[in-house]
This record gives sequence, structure tokens and C-alpha cells, in this order.
Amino acid sequence: MASKKNIIVEPSAEIREMLVEMGAADAYKCYQCGKCASVCPWFQVGTYEFLVFRFPLETVLGLIASSEEKEELAKEVDKIYRCVGCEACVDQCPLGVNIPNILRSARRILVDFGSYPDPLKAVVRKIRNVGNPLGEPREKRAGWTKGLKVEEYRSGMEVLYFPCCIPAYDSRAQKIARATAKILEMGKITYGILGPRENCCGETVRRIGAENSFRELAKSNISEFKNAGVGKILVTSPHCYNTFKNEYPEFGADNEILHTTQFFSHLIEEGKLVPKNKYPKKVVYHDSCRLGRQNGIYEEPRNILRSIPGLELVEVEDFSRNLSLCCGAGSGGLFMDWPMGERMVDIRLKQLLGTGADVIAVACPYCLNMFEETVKEMNLDIAVMDVSEILCESIIGQDSIE
Ligand code: SF4
Ligand code: SF4
Repeated sequence: MASKKNIIVEPSAEIREMLVEMGAADAYKCYQCGKCASVCPWFQVGTYEFLVFRFPLETVLGLIASSEEKEELAKEVDKIYRCVGCEACVDQCPLGVNIPNILRSARRILVDFGSYPDPLKAVVRKIRNVGNPLGEPREKRAGWTKGLKVEEYRSGMEVLYFPCCIPAYDSRAQKIARATAKILEMGKITYGILGPRENCCGETVRRIGAENSFRELAKSNISEFKNAGVGKILVTSPHCYNTFKNEYPEFGADNEILHTTQFFSHLIEEGKLVPKNKYPKKVVYHDSCRLGRQNGIYEEPRNILRSIPGLELVEVEDFSRNLSLCCGAGSGGLFMDWPMGERMVDIRLKQLLGTGADVIAVACPYCLNMFEETVKEMNLDIAVMDVSEILCESIIGQDSIE
């Protein structure tokens, strides 16, 4: 890599070519208008300077992560790993330049050199070893089903339910998977799981830059889907949704992918699910980046919430739907420990609290984890619930969430 003092005079054609080959060709479209920096959540955070528009130029010049000086390189690595892949910049760029893809290319080079943040190295290692980012044993993957009638998937069932690593293992998020199973039972849907045969979808390792690990996971999951004769896959996590729907087809997958909010809103429309118990609370819905901005699923979670008697749905003015502010968990952000006051979750929570809501409704286990942890840390008086949990309460009753 070129030394820092050589940056202006000796840009590296080799680095530029590597970056472009790894997916950074969009950099050539950029005309440096700067709009991306103004919509990036780091601009809202305000305590961290993140000049996003510089990345395309640095790519074209072959300057990304080019310092040989340890401290300078550490600063560059920190910047490259600040991006949470929310795609607010892609959405608002006049030319649709994909900055997170440009940065992912730089991350792939850094992963190859072993120069990336330690918490993310641990995530990659755990996923490689046991198939999940928490390092939990594979044989406990179906532990969330305890006491429920959840079967192993068999060909001919209507859907394969794929809960995502966080709801499979995390004691709080397991309630989302359990609520989902109860709703499926109420809707008389035949479904099953793969349990210990599931691997992480690989979204996080791909965004971290560990491309080879991602490809191994994708191939392993696809082979399990094919061996089990899986057609439709129902997912809780928008991260699994985006990966299975938009990235796995490149490796031979041809499954239909449904997010729980899509499936449940459809079942409500058909009259197969009837929310009947009152939920007399003011609820604000937080659009997750992967589900909303990146896959256009805005109405289905809102339709579920609107179908629940007594529930008052409110919105964050100016920061809703495609303008929703990221919670900061994507692209490895969930596993980073940025200081309080330098995190987008703090800003987003203020916006959500400003609506006067009693409950924050989410449709993503990453968002749930970010908000719950921060609500506890700040001792705030607001509940955080997945849409499936609220729906389950309304269909079955208050004690149904456990
Ligand atoms: S908004 Fe698009 S064109 Fe403008 S600086 Fe950012 S990436 Fe370049
Ligand atoms: S994807 Fe989000 S965090 Fe990354 S540069 Fe774009 S706006 Fe910023």
C-alpha cells in the first residue's frame, strides 16, 4: 500500500483496479455534489465527521486504506467501518452511486490483510465456527421452540420458517420467534424449521468484507433448502430477507421469500388471522433500512398495526418510510461499541420518543436489540416490541408473549 505522504502524488492504480473488480465501479459516476454526506445518519449524529462524498474520489484515485503509517491506517479503517449500509445516500444520490458497495470493496481488501476491527473479527470467526455471530452451539439453535409444537421442515409444508440467529438464541429476541410460531398456528399454516441445519444468512460477514465466508454460508444454506425441498421461506429478519431474496439467486437459489409482516398482513386481509384483543396504546413504527428503503416494504407492517383494535399508530414527522433514520445496526454496526453521543441509535430514539408513543414497533431483530439496549442504558420509559409480538397479543391475549 502507498504511504500517506505519497497519497496525492502517487495514487495506486493497483488498489483502484482491485476495488473496481470487487464492486466499486459506481465510483466513476460520482460528480462530487456532496448530497450523500448531508443525508448520511452520521451527519445527524454530528459529533463524527464522515465526508462520504470523498470515498468515490478516493476510489478512482486508488487512495482508500492506502496508508502504511499505523495510526493513519487505523483512522482510515475506522471510517471505512462506520458505514452501516443504510443506503440513505444511494436513495438520495442523483446518480444512484452505491457508496456502501464501494466501501464493501475496500473492506474486502482490509479483511484480506487482516486489518479490520477486532469485534468484527470475532463475529467472522464465530460464524465460521458455529454458524452464528453469537458463538452459540449449533445444537441449541432450535432452543427457542421449547414448549411449542414446532416441527422439522418437511417437503410439502407451506413455508419454511427461518428465524435468524438473533431470535434463535437471544433470550429477548426469542420472544419474536415464539410469537411468530403461535401466529402461524392460529392461522393454521403448515410450517417447519431446519434448526441445527440453519446457518447465518451471511449478510453481516458479507458487509464486513469477508466475502469468502459469505459464499460458503450461502452455498451451505442453499444446499439445505434444496435437500429439504423448500419452496417458500418465511423470515423474521429484514437482513435474511434481503440476502435470500436479492443475493442468493446469484448462487442458484430460487425460493420465494416472505417477511413475516408481508405474510401476516395478507393472512389478516384473507380473514385467516383476526386481531381481536384491544391494544390501547400509542405506537410509533420504525422503518428498518433493509425492509423499507431497500425492499419497499412500508405498508404491510403498518397495515398489521392498523388492524389491531385500540392501537393508535403515529409517525416520526420528516423521518419516516424512505427517510427513516437507521438504528445503526447494519453492516456490522450491531457488534461495534461506538461511544454514547456518537451513535445514530441515540438520535433515532430521540425522534421516536418525540412522538409521545408508549411503544416503539419494529420489524427487525437488529433494530429491537439496538433500541432495547439503549432504552435500558438511558433508563427511558418506552417499550420496544416487534410487530409480530403486538399482533400475537391481539390475537391470543396479553400472556401470549413469553
Ligand atoms: S450524492 Fe452521489 S454524486 Fe453526489 S457526491 Fe454523493 S455519491 Fe457523488
Ligand atoms: S449507507 Fe448509510 S451510513 Fe453508509 S455512507 Fe450511505 S448514508 Fe452513510
